[in-house]
Amino acid sequence: MKKKYAMAYIVDRCVDCKACMVACKAEWEVPEDKFRTHIDTGVSPDYTDTMRMHFLPHQCNHCDDAPCVTVCPTKASYKREDGIVSVNQKICVGCKYCIVSCPYDARFFNHELGVAEKCTFCLPRIAEGLAPACVTTCPGNVRVFGDINDPNSEISALLRDAATNHYKVWKLRQDLGTRPNIYYIQK
Ligand code: SF4
Ligand code: SF4
Repeated sequence: MKKKYAMAYIVDRCVDCKACMVACKAEWEVPEDKFRTHIDTGVSPDYTDTMRMHFLPHQCNHCDDAPCVTVCPTKASYKREDGIVSVNQKICVGCKYCIVSCPYDARFFNHELGVAEKCTFCLPRIAEGLAPACVTTCPGNVRVFGDINDPNSEISALLRDAATNHYKVWKLRQDLGTRPNIYYIQK
């Protein structure tokens, strides 16, 4: 079966230390006022019983039906076979359509390079068999990355464990039909 990369956040563990943001910026030389990943503060979606505040990591959701890919006039934004949504900066003309169309506010314009930019799950690191920089750096092991089509991967085991133990599992704005691939898990 083809690989399908995804990420899960165990939100109870995040303490907003921002080590992931620092690691990402260093890995990708992200401009000072921009982010490929950041930490939001929000409530889990169980408003009816125990409303709990969480620090919620945020990045590109590598949507299966990605508006950024649909609107890109040059096909610079594209979905890879392994599920990662990436940007071919060589053919990006900087029109910013993708930035406007992303419902997750996951992209930004790199003024220095004149292109759209966002999280790619650290593609070069994956090619070397490494996890994304944010995953490796997080001291709380909040972020779990891997191939959800591989039953032996850490993320598959985590999602099975979540189902067995009835943890709360959600994705962002599923009502939009974008089919995101970032899982939020509250134990
Ligand atoms: S989160 Fe935004 S940038 Fe990422 S794939 Fe979805 S629409 Fe595209
Ligand atoms: S800014 Fe680049 S990647 Fe985004 S829609 Fe325009 S050409 Fe495509």
